[in-house]
Amino acid sequence: MPRGKRTPTLPFQHFFTYDELTRFVEALAGSRPNLVSLTSIGDSREGRAIHMLTITDASTGAAEDKPAYLIQGNIHATELSGTHAALYTARQLVADHARSAILKRVAFYIVPRINPDGAEFAVTTSGTIRSRTDRSERVPNTLYQEDVNGDGLILTMRMEHPNGPFVADPKDKRLLIRRTKDSKPPYYRTLPEGMIHEWDGTDRISVEGRRFDWNRNWSYDWRPEPEQAGAGDFPFSEIELRALADFIFSRPNIFGVLGYHNGPNAVLRPPSTGSEDDLDAGDVKVMQELAEIGAKHTGFPVIPVVKYHRDNARDINLRGHFHNFGYQHLGLFVFEFELGMLLNSAGITTKDIFAVKDEQEQEALTRRMMKWWDKQKKRDRIFARWTYFDHPQLGPVQIGGLLRKYLAGPTLSDLRKIARGTYRFTLAHAERHPRVVIEDIGVDRVGEEVYRIRARVANRGQFPTHVSGKGRGLKRLKTVRVQFRRAGGVKLLSQTGHHSLGHLAGITDGRDLEWFVSVEEPRDSLCELRVLGGTGGNVRASVPKPD
Ligand SMILES: [Zn+2]
Repeated sequence: MPRGKRTPTLPFQHFFTYDELTRFVEALAGSRPNLVSLTSIGDSREGRAIHMLTITDASTGAAEDKPAYLIQGNIHATELSGTHAALYTARQLVADHARSAILKRVAFYIVPRINPDGAEFAVTTSGTIRSRTDRSERVPNTLYQEDVNGDGLILTMRMEHPNGPFVADPKDKRLLIRRTKDSKPPYYRTLPEGMIHEWDGTDRISVEGRRFDWNRNWSYDWRPEPEQAGAGDFPFSEIELRALADFIFSRPNIFGVLGYHNGPNAVLRPPSTGSEDDLDAGDVKVMQELAEIGAKHTGFPVIPVVKYHRDNARDINLRGHFHNFGYQHLGLFVFEFELGMLLNSAGITTKDIFAVKDEQEQEALTRRMMKWWDKQKKRDRIFARWTYFDHPQLGPVQIGGLLRKYLAGPTLSDLRKIARGTYRFTLAHAERHPRVVIEDIGVDRVGEEVYRIRARVANRGQFPTHVSGKGRGLKRLKTVRVQFRRAGGVKLLSQTGHHSLGHLAGITDGRDLEWFVSVEEPRDSLCELRVLGGTGGNVRASVPKPD
């Protein structure tokens, strides 16, 4: 094993800017070049390379020849925890390699930040976007987020207005709450910090026009706007997502997929539309079982995506979503971790958050969170004091409020523990990989320079090579094919050399194969057997001529 540099530690101090992320992935790859390679799947819209870490033990074969597990994080701009959780897994796979066999058999493809532009906006300004906003065409009377007072942040602007819907919270003056009939002035209206394009001076100001949500831009069951908000123009119209799709569809070895998000903490599983009765019952059982392993390691509840909503809301239907893509289009068991919000770190559970019935109850949770925060010793500045500013267009405003990048996720010290749990889930999921092997190779001499070659091709992994019941008929999941490559001077006597075995079930399923050859010229080797095992990996064996 080449002696590399020390594996870099992953600090859970602050969220990474793009440059910090780049330095970390470069250091990780540089520390163990036999285990980690850093590539890019393409450039973002603003020209940032989208980092891909490929992690496997190169001494036991190339990543493309092994079953592979894909992780993507930070598709939503402010959900920066996903980058750290994905990096934790990448780093820990490397650090644990001496004690674990997983990298000898499995490759991990890890994209810690699929949305580097959106994340950079969120991490540097604390402004709010879902995935990206469309600024290609500026619309009159529309506010575009910008740091107008020069403090480097994009916060909230509040303006006194007789019809303003908010008032300062009498119980916590830092917060704004909904105005009620009993509220006392001053009343405020709010806007994100920014400038209004071609403002006509009226109150009719809209914010940032069209919003894209890349977790509605996957191909399966995609629907255009307005049927599905945030969908984009067509499936994979977002170039970052298209780069990932190109990568996925060029890798038939991928058998598991995972995404990282921030919302009330949960282990999410399919379906993302309709009902789970529409899915293969056996698949639902496996997904639930795996999700419960995630729940055990994180303490999060397991929730099918369609049920991830407030108690008094209807089931959600997310079109063009990662879960239906992963399950229906890739045929895989797909999960997302909602890594939590600051509310969760304050001891407020996902159940509490979803039990909220109205804005007053929501405000009570925020107040509780602020109280908890005030008692913390080591803390980020999650609140910026309301400060007067003479806005070039609006006149006197106050700028301040909560910093969204910190509200979106758990504290970084909580995130470290959570990332440990999601890493252990990934190991448990990945350990079920299909594993195609060539076994029991035997050669008998059956005549004058005539030989019978026998071998068994089997799947010794737990998942079948089609992974899920859904995957059985999907073309993306390749059936197992055996290529017979005869050595020079060797003639094949059997009717066929190559074999197509179909899919192999897990653990014990295999096929016994047999070939007859004659040797016309003196040779050491009879043939090479190459097995293209799809999700079970590719293996080869050369068959020597017996002495
Ligand atoms: Zn998200």
